[in-house]
Amino acid sequence: MTHWPPGSGEDIRSELQQLTLDSWLKVTPAMFHSIDARGRLISVSDAWLAKLGYRREEVLGRLSSDFLTPESRKHAIENILPEFFLRGSCENVEYDMVCKDGRILSVLLSAILQNEPLPDDRRSIAIITDVTELRAAQRRLSESEALYRCLVEDQSELVALTNPEGEILFVNNAFARTCGLPSQEFLGKSIFEFVRREDHAASLDRMRRFETADRTVTGEYPFRLWDGKTRWISWTHRAVLDAHGKMTAIHSVGRDIEERIVADRRLKDSESRFRLLAENSTDVVFQLDTALTHEYASLACKEILGYEPEELVGTTPFILLHPSEAQRAAQIFQSLLDGSADRQSIVTHVRHRKGHWIWIEGSLRPIKDPTTGAISGITGALRDISVRKFVEQQLAEANRRLETLVREDSLTRLSNRRAFDLALTKEYRRAQRDKAPLALIMIDVDRFKPFNDRYGHPAGDDCLRRISETIKTLIRRPGDMAARYGGEEFAVLLPGTNELGAAIIAEKIREAVLRLAIEHEASPQRVVTISAGVASSGPKNFERRPAALLDRADKALYRAKDSNRNISIVASSLKTKKSAKSTAAA
Ligand code: GH3
Ligand code: MG
Ligand code: MG
Repeated sequence: MTHWPPGSGEDIRSELQQLTLDSWLKVTPAMFHSIDARGRLISVSDAWLAKLGYRREEVLGRLSSDFLTPESRKHAIENILPEFFLRGSCENVEYDMVCKDGRILSVLLSAILQNEPLPDDRRSIAIITDVTELRAAQRRLSESEALYRCLVEDQSELVALTNPEGEILFVNNAFARTCGLPSQEFLGKSIFEFVRREDHAASLDRMRRFETADRTVTGEYPFRLWDGKTRWISWTHRAVLDAHGKMTAIHSVGRDIEERIVADRRLKDSESRFRLLAENSTDVVFQLDTALTHEYASLACKEILGYEPEELVGTTPFILLHPSEAQRAAQIFQSLLDGSADRQSIVTHVRHRKGHWIWIEGSLRPIKDPTTGAISGITGALRDISVRKFVEQQLAEANRRLETLVREDSLTRLSNRRAFDLALTKEYRRAQRDKAPLALIMIDVDRFKPFNDRYGHPAGDDCLRRISETIKTLIRRPGDMAARYGGEEFAVLLPGTNELGAAIIAEKIREAVLRLAIEHEASPQRVVTISAGVASSGPKNFERRPAALLDRADKALYRAKDSNRNISIVASSLKTKKSAKSTAAA
């Protein structure tokens, strides 16, 4: 107040002072009041009135503590005022004031006591700052901080807040649990204690990136736990910036990916082992996806199929398969993909790149996820079995020939005796079971010894062949069988035929041989003739054994020989002595 204008006397000075104070109280934007020794308000600034909503005449003369909340008033009377009168000042005391309309103002009050000779003349002057907005902002901040903590505490992801130097300010439960240390023990520790020594340089480098344009840094790296072990974590670090864009903290969120990394590593190991095996195999090792597209084919496909592996990748097996095999192969693939089969094999022919067909044998399995069991494709191996297949075919052919040899008579190409015996037993049983008749014709060439003697053995052979051909052309029903029973004897087995039917056929054969007109001087007919004995079993009565049928046919044949030959005789006619010579109707 030294710059105030000089006055003419004490009164004027005081008046001037008062005048100046009054006008200052009107213009100052500060909340200001002055109280007397008894705590009554003697002056207030307009800003004070405006903030609290009073008019000047409503407040002057009242106790300043009337405008405090009860708590603030108690605090003022018990703590602040005694100290104030002792020390002569107070600074930034937190009070809550009550407005005329009941609103509460949070304020900071600083005051000084004017020293006067008489204690009753003492006045105090207070400057009040409204901090309601600030307090509200602080409250909101702490609320939002509490909310943040709530949110991050229970998250399964690892959350940490560090200062730009890496000093830990906060970690959530998941972070603490993963590290194996109680949350409160992290405060003040450096984040570098959780980074492997060999990763320090890379970690520092990441922090430096925050200082440049990057405000978010992500990466997957091992995290050092308190016991020295490590776990893989996928991190997202974000810079926390102040109003000027300066980084004040780093907010890190991490997801534990240890299991995935371990699984990936295992997969890579097993994949590389698989490749090693596949590339060195002489089989074509291949993989199909669920759309049956080749994802992989090993080098051997060049050797076996003529394709480079990369030519097959992206194509399906159907480009190789014979169209007639496609449906069967598709069913096999489907059974592996839908889980109904765990292993399949296929032998088929496929087209080599050069166009020729080769036989391959493939073994196939589904590709399963070891944990979920989900099927993601098919893996398999195939080998060229063309040589084996060729040998197999040769062998089958040889076997077929052998079998024919075993069953066939080499001279006449009729069934041999062995095949006839088997057929007789089989057909006899079948006839018994089906209650069907079974007939047998036994044939013997007449006077064949003299034929051989006269025309020679080769001519005899030729004669036997011609008779065989004749017999063959006359028995045509499936199941009928003609066999060379012995030297110049033939047997004809006729399932489903009774004696009469067989006698007709016997007669036809006899006549046909006669018509062959093979010259035979020693024969009364001057040509080769035959005799036949016919017998049948069933459909009702069967002897116990087929030998009985053979025996009866044989007897009928003997009778034919006795009857001057060139005749067929039925066994049933032998029962009556006189009708023994009856021939079958022609
Ligand atoms: P029959 O009218 O009583 O039957 O008199 P046969 O001379 O035909 O009867 P025999 O049993 O005395 O003679 C059968 C002859 O058939 C003896 C044999 O030389 C001849 N023979 C047997 N098998 C063959 C053969 O495979 N080839 C030739 N050429 N002759 C054969
Ligand atoms: Mg004979
Ligand atoms: Mg004979």
